[in-house]
Amino acid sequence: MTFSRATLNEWAAAQKLDLIGVADPEYYAEVAPQWNPLSILPKAKSIIVFAREIPRSYFRGIEEGTLWMRVNRYLGADDAYCLCRRFEDNGFLAVPCSPLAQQRWPDGIEYKPSKPAPNVTPDIRVAAQLAGLGEIGYNGMFLTPQFGPRQALGMLFCEAKLDCDEPFRFGTICRREQCLACQTGCPARALGPKTEVCQVGSQTATIGVFNNEACRFCVNGAYPDTSCATAPPNRLAAACVRACIACLEDGGIVKTRFKAPFRRRAAWGLATFGG
Ligand code: SF4
Ligand code: SF4
Repeated sequence: MTFSRATLNEWAAAQKLDLIGVADPEYYAEVAPQWNPLSILPKAKSIIVFAREIPRSYFRGIEEGTLWMRVNRYLGADDAYCLCRRFEDNGFLAVPCSPLAQQRWPDGIEYKPSKPAPNVTPDIRVAAQLAGLGEIGYNGMFLTPQFGPRQALGMLFCEAKLDCDEPFRFGTICRREQCLACQTGCPARALGPKTEVCQVGSQTATIGVFNNEACRFCVNGAYPDTSCATAPPNRLAAACVRACIACLEDGGIVKTRFKAPFRRRAAWGLATFGG
């Protein structure tokens, strides 16, 4: 029996989520166990990813250099918990997944030789693209047609079988080498031109390689990852991502309801540590 998508959409709306999608676990057949949701819930039939818009005002203060705040990339545990409770109230096992920095792995003791050590850490951006919500951009951020990079993501795995979404196609939002506003927008020149390959299901695309040492000292809007000292910072409000917000909105690639542009004057930036 397939669980109703309409019901899932109702739950998401009640939770005031803006986006929700379902990825097929079959895409994880070849994914290494330490990054694989099936290591957490082997009989998962649906990987569910959801998102809530982050107000544009959170970024505008940093863009103007007047108000500094951390902009969270991930939703708190409550949203996943509430959705899992809904599934379990209907008789299906469901596991919330809090994204952790992949640099934390391994983060515990292997309990059996054939099993991955904890904590298994699936990449939420890959799951979100497989669930049809958007794509991973050249700057490593998750971009959606609705909000560009301006959303916080959450994820759960469940044993209810739902109709899955088609994976989102690379190149629909991010034009990579035809754009590179994120690369030129970094005052410290810490993104690209070196690239690496990003694999999402059967698709591949290039993403820019960051100079993580420079990013660790970024004073242009990045925020340290407080969960892991060796992890790259949260770059969501940094110059490399604010340049992306401006270019997607100005280019009409992300529809905007705002009457004034995001970027209203030349971007400020300090070329610290090797810029
Ligand atoms: S986080 Fe800062 S230093 Fe790193 S690429 Fe972005 S703007 Fe540049
Ligand atoms: S600024 Fe352009 S190249 Fe960079 S992630 Fe955004 S859309 Fe892609």
